[in-house]
Amino acid sequence: MSEFAILGAGIVGVTTALALQEGGHEVIIIDRRQPGREASYGNAGIVQVEVMEPYAFPRGALDVLRLALGLGNDVRYQLAALPSAALPLALYYLNSAPIRYRTISQIYRQLIGRCAADHDKLIAGAGAEHLFVRRGYIQMHREARELDTDAAQAERYRKDFGVQSRILTNQALRGEEPCLKRDFAGAVHWQQSRSCVDPGGLVATYAALFRRRGGTLLEEEVRSLTQPASGWHVHLRNGRRLATENIVIALGAWSPSLLRPLGVSMPMIRKRGYHRHYKADRLPGRPLFDVAAAALYCPMSQGLRLTTG
Ligand SMILES: Cc1cc2nc3c(=O)[nH]c(=O)nc-3n(C[C@H](O)[C@H](O)[C@H](O)COP(=O)(O)OP(=O)(O)OC[C@H]3O[C@@H](n4cnc5c(N)ncnc54)[C@H](O)[C@@H]3O)c2cc1C
Repeated sequence: MSEFAILGAGIVGVTTALALQEGGHEVIIIDRRQPGREASYGNAGIVQVEVMEPYAFPRGALDVLRLALGLGNDVRYQLAALPSAALPLALYYLNSAPIRYRTISQIYRQLIGRCAADHDKLIAGAGAEHLFVRRGYIQMHREARELDTDAAQAERYRKDFGVQSRILTNQALRGEEPCLKRDFAGAVHWQQSRSCVDPGGLVATYAALFRRRGGTLLEEEVRSLTQPASGWHVHLRNGRRLATENIVIALGAWSPSLLRPLGVSMPMIRKRGYHRHYKADRLPGRPLFDVAAAALYCPMSQGLRLTTG
């Protein structure tokens, strides 16, 4: 019987496994694919240390209407998906009310506050420094009004939490990022964030560290879980059954389906994110978020990665 079975070898599963290993536990990770091939592969790679509050559900009627009518580029949804998302959406809305949101943000900040240092330890252990760019990330605004709102938030974060940022005029932005071919009203440069040029490769590198430290990785699909008198049984696609004392479910968007038969309801809204790679003569010096287009332009080892933002 293993002590801990971690289901899912994305960034969450692999880093959880490393943390448990460090605590002296014996760990096995199970994933149907190689580590870091799903959401942990196709993202923008930013370790966003400046985000002091999670994204709240918009509370303004006009904002909600704009999203509902699909007027922006930031949210697209299918009407048919709404009934199954109704409960999680309602909870999201309620948890974004000011008092709840303040409490949640305080807890959230404890995680954000340690993510850079936790990554640094793993980066050093895994030899992954070459996968990182430490130049922050830039949020570019096409409208002066939106730039002002963002600049005010940056100032609040500086005062309340000591987050470092600077405001760039269009000229300064174009000077620092010569790959840009259009003008912006200006930008906020969040200076402390770092970004990864190969997020999937990073998970693979962390997984290699986990193996070097004696961990086991099993490539198999998990079909279901059952609870015998003590511990857990993990039922695999190949018909095998694995017994474990403890289980960590880190299956990302697939977690709720495994939990449902156990009577555990996990309210989750599943978003679909996209990315594409392009050849570029000149890559950005760091991720650039074009807020109005809801798109991120990221320098990656594969070239220019454009992701939904
Ligand atoms: C376009 C985009 C941009 C993003 N940008 C950022 C960013 O800049 N910074 C940031 O912090 N976050 C970003 N994110 C979010 C980030 O990518 C995710 O939060 C993160 O990757 C989730 O990791 P995970 O380990 O939970 O899930 P995943 O990486 O999806 O891992 C889940 C794993 O479970 C496995 N699995 C599922 N079902 C089974 C099963 N039945 N049996 C066995 N294995 C199974 C899958 O194969 C997969 O490996 C972005 C996301 C998107 C889509």
